[in-house]
Amino acid sequence: MIKAAEPEPGYMKIKSFDINCVLSPLAIPHKTASGTIEAAPLVLLDIETDTGITGSTYVFVYTPMGLQPVASLLADLGNLLAGHEVAPRAVATLVQGKFRLAGNQGFAGMAAAAIDMALWDCLARAAELPLCRLLGASPAATRAYDSMGQMPPQETARQVEASMKAGYRAFKIKAGHPDPAQDKAVLEAMINAAGGEDLWLAADFNQAFMPVISIERARRLEHFELAWLEEPARAEDNAGHAQVRAGTSIPIQTGENWWGIADMQRSLDAGASDHAMPDVMKIGGVTVWLDSAALAHGQAMPVSSHLFTEISAHLMCATPTAHMLEVLDVAGAVLADPVKISGDGTIAPADQPGCGIEWDRQAIAKYSV
Ligand SMILES: [Mg+2]
Repeated sequence: MIKAAEPEPGYMKIKSFDINCVLSPLAIPHKTASGTIEAAPLVLLDIETDTGITGSTYVFVYTPMGLQPVASLLADLGNLLAGHEVAPRAVATLVQGKFRLAGNQGFAGMAAAAIDMALWDCLARAAELPLCRLLGASPAATRAYDSMGQMPPQETARQVEASMKAGYRAFKIKAGHPDPAQDKAVLEAMINAAGGEDLWLAADFNQAFMPVISIERARRLEHFELAWLEEPARAEDNAGHAQVRAGTSIPIQTGENWWGIADMQRSLDAGASDHAMPDVMKIGGVTVWLDSAALAHGQAMPVSSHLFTEISAHLMCATPTAHMLEVLDVAGAVLADPVKISGDGTIAPADQPGCGIEWDRQAIAKYSV
């Protein structure tokens, strides 16, 4: 048991929170088997410290109805944490304690993760290091894939052509169309669009089916040699994931809906997945991402990122079993320097102090809600 330490004189402390809510437009509306997103509801957090260093991050709250609750929780937590040391793990323990009875998932989990990520940004800026270096890693480029929404075959093919021009050779589609033939038609259109170039392909069922139906649908796609099939059952249904995993030759991917390390451990214990895909927000920020990377390392499980491309590009460098970086740009509209794919299909973390977030203040004003 560790006794909470008294704040150390002279060590960087939290001064105040600045919170902004935006609807950040996506370049292409993102349609999945569970709904369409045209603009990403984001809560932006800047944590000002007593040294003048400010740490920045955003969280993606999925529905505009989440903006006000998360902003309100952050405002209260800002008052609670004023004067505390910029010590993400200690702050995480304190915040978790506050929500122990109400539950640490959902909007409370999003607020806690925002604080954690912004505090790590403060630490990296104070050390004048990119986050990956602060974590002891070298900046390395991770292979990235274009995470595409559900679109008709011709539209998908056009996006593949455009993305290939930018450098992508890896793509994930939202499968699970009501008509099973459509999933096949989309994959065939992508392969044709590539004109003989070898593509890395994955598919996401977004929890749309019961496990038995998922197995039937997966078997129809096996000949496409997909790298993974994502969330073929309800996210919390570990047994269902394991059932699908036993019923198809396609490797199973899950993890974007793990809220904290215990959810991940339960999934691993159930043999639910071949891959791990923690979401830096839902898993609990940078602090718990590092825990999740260690768990995956222990069983040689490939780790890919989910959303949050800017900070994930840093975290993948510090993840021993790093696999693929997801690119679904929800925040590009409010960032001064959105991440870009390089010609070889990889993305490297931003080479500047911090987690890779610099705001476009004019855009924030424009998309503010
Ligand atoms: Mg997914």
